[in-house]
Order: sequence, then structure tokens, then C-alpha cells
Amino acid sequence: TQLDLIRNFSIVAHIDHGKSTLADRLIQLTGTVAERDMKAQILDSMEIERERGITIKANTVRIDYPAKDGQTYVLNLIDTPGHVDFAYEVSRSMRAVEGSLLVVDASQGVEAQTLANVYQALDAGHEIVPVLNKIDLPAAEPERVKSQIEDVIGLDASEAVLISAKSGLGIPDVLEAIVHRLPPPKGDRDAPLKAMLVDSWYDAYLGVVVMIRVMDGVIRKGDRVKMMQTGAVYGIDRLAVLKPQMVDIAELGPGEIGVLTASIKQVRDTRVGDTITHEKKGCAAPLPGFKPAQPVVFCGLFPVDANDFEALREAIEKLALNDASFTYEMETSAALGFGFRCGFLGLLHLEVVRDRLEREYDLDLITTAPSVVYQIYMKDGTLQELHNPTDMPDLTYVDHIEEPRIRATIMVPDEYLGDVLKLCQDRRGIQLDLSYAGARAMVVYDLPLNEVVFDFYDRLKSVTKGYASFDYQITGYREDFLVKMSILVNDEPVDALSMMVHRDRADMRGRAMVEKLKELIPRHMFKIPIQAAIGGRVIARETISAMRKDVTAKCYGGDATRKRKLLDKQKAGKKKMRQFGKVEIPQQAFINALKMD
Ligand code: GDP
Ligand code: MG
Repeated sequence: TQLDLIRNFSIVAHIDHGKSTLADRLIQLTGTVAERDMKAQILDSMEIERERGITIKANTVRIDYPAKDGQTYVLNLIDTPGHVDFAYEVSRSMRAVEGSLLVVDASQGVEAQTLANVYQALDAGHEIVPVLNKIDLPAAEPERVKSQIEDVIGLDASEAVLISAKSGLGIPDVLEAIVHRLPPPKGDRDAPLKAMLVDSWYDAYLGVVVMIRVMDGVIRKGDRVKMMQTGAVYGIDRLAVLKPQMVDIAELGPGEIGVLTASIKQVRDTRVGDTITHEKKGCAAPLPGFKPAQPVVFCGLFPVDANDFEALREAIEKLALNDASFTYEMETSAALGFGFRCGFLGLLHLEVVRDRLEREYDLDLITTAPSVVYQIYMKDGTLQELHNPTDMPDLTYVDHIEEPRIRATIMVPDEYLGDVLKLCQDRRGIQLDLSYAGARAMVVYDLPLNEVVFDFYDRLKSVTKGYASFDYQITGYREDFLVKMSILVNDEPVDALSMMVHRDRADMRGRAMVEKLKELIPRHMFKIPIQAAIGGRVIARETISAMRKDVTAKCYGGDATRKRKLLDKQKAGKKKMRQFGKVEIPQQAFINALKMD
């Protein structure tokens, strides 16, 4: 395709502002997908994406659009994820396109992720067309939101396209704006091949599928290509474009976006951001490389039933085929037996992976306390990375500990500002900025990531009745007074419940934890002391009193079937318990004990 007939773009928006619905309408109006094959959120292919209504992986579609000027254009849309954990996916797909539609819900206005995503688009050098969605809603205030876009983002919004993605109103204007207001790609057809590896995923039938954007040169089926970072060479089996299902194509030239398959074994063999060139007569220098995604949150995943360990291993290995951004290694816990220590891009990512393991592989899992990565500076001058509180070295050898900090941006209606400031303050936050965009306050905090990984987002949503939006980025490491808090049940430490906390917050966390565990661990025939301790010093203590009566006593002896039922019920309940020393701890206790309130 001729360069001036190509437009590559992404849609950036805060979650729920209508990005997927707009993509659906663009696909529908251009007849890219036959009406009978159309379903809502067609680009959100993963089951979890559909259920939660969020886009996790970036998805792509190629649209042929006969414009009003009589020319037929090729439009490549990359749909990007809207959630903060997946900022990395957003940034890499941004580099593959030249422009963005900035979708803002005209009844809500600019939100934290609107800002984060639009800044990434600007960083990538995009031309941006503002689109105000949901103008069918009575609460829509397009004029107010236009001036908000100008004040807060600094973009000219006077020619924003007003649409209702739901009803289809204004969609033809969006298509014309893409063609006339976004720039065509640049590239040299005669130069050596230079293509960017934008994304890759595992397909049960095709193996690893690699999405590429050609910068210079031409790639053809059958070509032998080299991944410049890894040096691996592959013969291309298949070349296709996504409409959004695969349609084979003979070649892809500059500015074009498509997918290839070659007998690549696992997603890990493909590095996002890598440059693909021809094995012979390749390009001289690779594209400026992307940083690989770094896991920032770690936790242990253990099967509730120890016999499921092999099944868990298989499931994790399969999942990892498709998600190179999570890491795993085997871990053993005195409390929980064999499991895996896994690293994630953030909390949502953790939840998504755990959900998929439980749902797609039918496993019951225990998740241990999520932990960030600490840097432990030892007295002998060495540096250790701590991914797991149980590996915390003896304090006598430790010089100091540093923890990751984030810059958090929160947007919230004025009336909830007080609660948000209190929450951030309680979590050891340092206020950096406070400004207003209409009736919404925008507050910027420097916070320790470890105070955010537990339940910050949930708390934020509940104190603001869901009206706050949140985004963060990791800014660096800073020293603080951090200690390892252990939990002892019946005088034995339960490793899966130990965590790193700030010394000033330890008493509070310790007390909350033992009180919770007192409720969560059922009574036994004997007294069970529960303690929180730092080193050898107990900072909080509770006791579960002994059970007095036989539980079957209340069945009055006579009714054998009722007795049977009760025992069966207990037995079923037991499946979700872990034996720990003499004490049985329910799976739910591990999960609930870690929630703060
Ligand atoms: P995304 O998270 O940005 O992909 O947002 P979605 O496309 O999933 O839309 C979020 C919600 O807003 C869904 O319930 C949509 O049906 C709804 N929605 C999207 N566009 C419109 C619109 O133009 N008008 C109205 N009233 N609702 C819309
Ligand atoms: Mg979506």
C-alpha cells in the first residue's frame, strides 16, 4: 500500500470512556466484520477481558475505508489497555502508530488515566484528535469538557469530534478525521528491512504469533529474518493482517502492520521492542530498544490441595507461554508446601493471572502477601534484591533497606478530597501537588509502593464511592525504616503471612492481623495463641479459646442422616484448610488476613 493511503492510530482513554465501543463502531461501519459476526467489544478477545469489561492485551484491526475524497485508505487501529498495570503495553503499541484518538466521556471529563495515556501518546510524537463520547447522555457537557482538555492537557479541543459510540452518531466524522487530521507513516521501501516487534502471543493452533510494524523495507512470506536482540533466525511461515481474524497477505511494506508466524517455540523467544530484519543484507542499527517489562509485585501461589502442585506447574507454564511479563520460580513454604513465587506488573495483573489459573485450569490457590522488591544494602557493601519477606537476611548484617516509591496522580470530585488526602497521608504519602480542573481536584502524591499494593485502589474507590481515578508510575528507591513482621500461630511462625512493613505502621498492622486471624481460624480442641512479632519481640497478641463441646452434640443424637450431613459438610470445608503444625488454617484466612481496613 502507498504510504499516503495508510493511517495508523490508537485510541487512548480512561477506562469505561468508550474506547472498545468506538472500535466496534469503526469496524462495523466500514463493514470490516460482517454484521452477523459482529459482537460487542470484538477486539477484547480474552474471556476475562469480556467479563471485567477491560482491555488487557493490545489488539489490532485493519480497516479498509473508502473516504469522501474517493480514495480507499488502510486504517490500522491498535486498541490499547486502559489499566495502570499495563502502561507498558500502551507505551509499546504507541510507538507503532503515528496518531491517537483521545476519547473522553463527555459526562465525566478528563480522568487520571486519560492524562497518563495521552502523555504517552504525546511522548511517542502522536498527532491527537480529541473525541468526546457519550453525548447522548443528558449529563454530557461537551463545552465544559472541551475547555477541560485545553486547560489540563493543553490540547486544542475546538475541533473535537462529538460522538455517541453507543448509537453510532458521529462515527463517519471520526473516520474522516482519521484520514485528514492524522499523518501518514514514513518509510523507505528500498531500504533494508526494519520492523518493530510490537506484541506476541501464543495461539493453540498457530503457536507464537508475532505482531510487527514495518518501518523500512519489505517483508515477505518465506523470508529468513533475524531478531536483532536475541540473534535468533526464523523462516516466515505465514504473513497476515488482522481484520480482526487473520487474512493472509504476500508482503508488508513500510507503514504496514501485520502478524507473522515462524516456528517460534515460546513467547519468551520474542522480545517486544526488538527489531526484525533480514538474515542477509539486514539493516545496520536496530530501532531504539524498549526496556523489558519489569515485575514490581511478587507473591507466592500455592495449591490449596498439595496434590495439585504438578497441575499448578503445568498451568503456570502454559500461561507463561502467552504472558512473558510475569515471572515464576519454585518456592517452598513451611506453611504451604510447594508452590511458586511469581512476579507481576501490578496488582491487577496479579489478580488476572490468579483468576485465569483458578478458572481456566480449575485450581484452588492460596496467594501470599504481595510484596514489592526491596533493595537490601548489606554491611559488606553488597546489594541484595528481596522478592520475598521470608528471605530477609539477619539484621545484624544489614546496613539499610530501600523501597520503591511511586508518583501517584489521583483525580477526584472536590467533596471527597479530604478523604483521599487522609488515605494518602495514612499510607506514608508526601503531597507533591494539588490543583483543580473544574470541580475535580487533581492531587499528586509520592507514596511507597508497598503501601499501595495491598488494597489502596479498593480503599480509594470505597472512600470516593468510585469517583476517583488513579494512575501511578515508579519513580525510584528510597531508604526507610522497614522491618520484617512475622506471624506466629500456636508459637510457630507462618512464613506465608510474614511481610515487610514500616516500623511506625508495624504495631497497627500487627494488631489488625492478629485480630483478623482470631476470627478467621476456627476453634480447636486447645487454646491457640496468635502473635505478631518483629525479630524476637511480640508486638501484638490474641488467643483463640478452646472449643468446648462436640459439634455433633447439637444433633440430639437421634438423627443419623443429619449427623452424617454435618460431618460431610465439615469434611468438604476441610478441603479448603491447610494443616499447620497442630492447627488447621482455612484458605480464606490467608487471603482475608492480608486485606487491611
Ligand atoms: P472502554 O473501557 O473505554 O473500552 O469502554 P467501553 O467501550 O467498554 O464502554 C464502557 C461503557 O460505556 C459500556 O457500558 C458502554 O456500553 C458504554 N458506552 C460506550 N459508549 C457510549 C455512548 O456513546 N453512550 C452511552 N450512553 N454509553 C456508552
Ligand atoms: Mg475496553
